[in-house]
Amino acid sequence: MKGPGENGFDPDVIYITSLFTYAWKPVHEVIRYYSDKYKKARVIVGGIYATLCPDHLFETFKDRIEIYKGVVAEVEDLLPDYSLAPDWKASILFSSRGCIRNCPFCSVPVLEPEFKAKKSIRNLIYPGHKKVIFWDNNFLASPYWKDILEEVEEMKLKVDFNQGLDARLFTGETAGRLKKLKIPIIRLAYDTTRIPENQFLDS
Ligand code: SF4
Repeated sequence: MKGPGENGFDPDVIYITSLFTYAWKPVHEVIRYYSDKYKKARVIVGGIYATLCPDHLFETFKDRIEIYKGVVAEVEDLLPDYSLAPDWKASILFSSRGCIRNCPFCSVPVLEPEFKAKKSIRNLIYPGHKKVIFWDNNFLASPYWKDILEEVEEMKLKVDFNQGLDARLFTGETAGRLKKLKIPIIRLAYDTTRIPENQFLDS
């Protein structure tokens, strides 16, 4: 179902996701709406806010909800139903989860504690989409990043690395590979000041 309203059936289970912790109010509104409307249904709340701040959720909803923490492994390789958003023209995906680093200020080690990378992302590109947006926390840490970029080139997709590329893993080879892509902007993530001065002299 999509949004508040009549859906024509009584669900047994309601899954609600959540985004960044500061955006908790809309999540509470949705939980309140659906848990009041379908009093017999299980209500399972997951996502970033639910994983990082379960106590904050329980304070309000106590026994009415169940909390799911972390990534749902069963849907990692499923193509989202983009027909629900016909005006959206880009496929969003993670080619990897987690991160090889453990920065003390970052929530990724809590949200996705294990670093896992896919060998291929072809199955996650929606037919007709001409652009891919990577939400990887650390794309260049994947042992398959070159394979993934080859696929992107073959599919002639525009590319957006939304989360930034790890500056510590950026080399002359990386720059050469990226140069071949349709990529209007490159974001770099500088998560430490300890980057060697000669890092970029390998090309
Ligand atoms: S490198 Fe980035 S994603 Fe990885 S732990 Fe550090 S801040 Fe988080």
